[in-house]
Amino acid sequence: MKITIYGSGYVGLVTGACLAQVGNHVLCVDVDPDKIRRLEQGDIPIYEPGLDKLVRDNAAAGRLRFTLDAAEGVKHGLFQFIAVGTPPDEDGSADLRHVLEVARTVGRHMDEYRVVINKSTVPVGTADRVRAALAEALAARGVTAEFDVVSNPEFLKEGAAIEDFMKPDRIVVGTDNPRTGELMRALYAPFNRSHERVVLMDVRSAELTKYAANALLATKISFMNELANLAERLGADIEAVRVGIGSDPRIGYHFIYPGCGYGGSCFPKDVKALERTARGSGYQAELLAAVESVNERQKQRLFEKLHAHFDGNLKGRSFALWGLAFKPNTDDMREAPSRTLMEALWDAGARVQAYDPVAMHECRRIYGERPDLALCDSPEDTLEGADALLIVTEWTHFRSPDFDLIKQKLAHPLILDGRNLYDPKLLQQLGFQYLAIGRGQVP
Ligand code: NAD
Repeated sequence: MKITIYGSGYVGLVTGACLAQVGNHVLCVDVDPDKIRRLEQGDIPIYEPGLDKLVRDNAAAGRLRFTLDAAEGVKHGLFQFIAVGTPPDEDGSADLRHVLEVARTVGRHMDEYRVVINKSTVPVGTADRVRAALAEALAARGVTAEFDVVSNPEFLKEGAAIEDFMKPDRIVVGTDNPRTGELMRALYAPFNRSHERVVLMDVRSAELTKYAANALLATKISFMNELANLAERLGADIEAVRVGIGSDPRIGYHFIYPGCGYGGSCFPKDVKALERTARGSGYQAELLAAVESVNERQKQRLFEKLHAHFDGNLKGRSFALWGLAFKPNTDDMREAPSRTLMEALWDAGARVQAYDPVAMHECRRIYGERPDLALCDSPEDTLEGADALLIVTEWTHFRSPDFDLIKQKLAHPLILDGRNLYDPKLLQQLGFQYLAIGRGQVP
């Protein structure tokens, strides 16, 4: 099949590479000349495990190509995927500028039937706006050609994106046209072999499904963070509570880890956007507003603990920071808790010595060179003379570090752990002061 994908970011590039891998001919269109130039040279602009090989192999086989030329994109694919960004605009609702621009582009160049598939996360009603924008651009040319607009939200997780795309839990397809539903089934057949994964529904329900999934996952995290803060005050250990509740199959162990807040390009923006959508429809979504505000507060927790520990005297101090990405196995720092922490430390006059296995280039891109930030070559290097070690991302190799070395290098034996990686009793025995999340007075 011939497929065009607009947007070569995390979602577009993974979608393109995976669809090419099963034999389709995929053309990826982006408006960023630097990105397209790099992709054409086999240089993958983002870190996603396995993606570089998949892109290079399929490009070499001639099944995956890249272009800036949107007209060529419209001509190429029967299936036209929209996978462009939908960042929050000033009031938190989703900014649809890029999505609607792609719709107009398709309308400007289309001469025959096309299936326009929205993979970006967009508010309910966006398919109608895509349809209208495309129809207007077509009408302006005096062309009549049929098209369908499908909602096909993406559920992949950064860090496991290829596995998620190749073996999805479900493939949500929202369409009001049964014939288009069958085309989509055919497109996804290679990913739907072991059992039925395609969930067909109407367009609006599909659009809402994506927000519902992300909002529920964010709610679980904020709920646990709320309880963690309470556990600290009550002298309870949230990690014991977590295991105690997770064993109930109605609750389960997934997504109930307390921490220093959720980040990334999806949860913060999607919870905000859904709350704004609710407000726009005349409904006050109180739970969603609380999920968001609990998370904002949680991102401040490590700084608050540090501030209290040093009686507010942070000026001139240095801190070792382990982890910059919003979660392990990605270089994505969008809305990452590390940013909130670093910015608060800088405002307080402190210095940060940071390490992350893959997000250092992203950190450099965001903050540039600054005297109060040192990006170190290893976790150990960050410790040199630091007043405390702060852990923000749960990379696996932070789980069992050399505590003797940490103690030796730090100016104070103090660890603030935003991901509850260690056993508080062990750290106490080793002579550390260990401040984690929700681990009140552990017996
Ligand atoms: P991204 O910012 O990584 O990539 C978006 C790309 O779109 C950029 O390369 C940009 O240059 C390009 N673009 C912008 N306007 C364009 C246009 N008119 N034509 C062609 N390309 C254009 O974004 P992302 O993380 O891949 O997210 C894309 C969408 O998918 C968002 O709506 C997001 O919410 C959703 N989503 C993301 C994830 C994730 O884990 N990142 C998961 C599921 C869904």
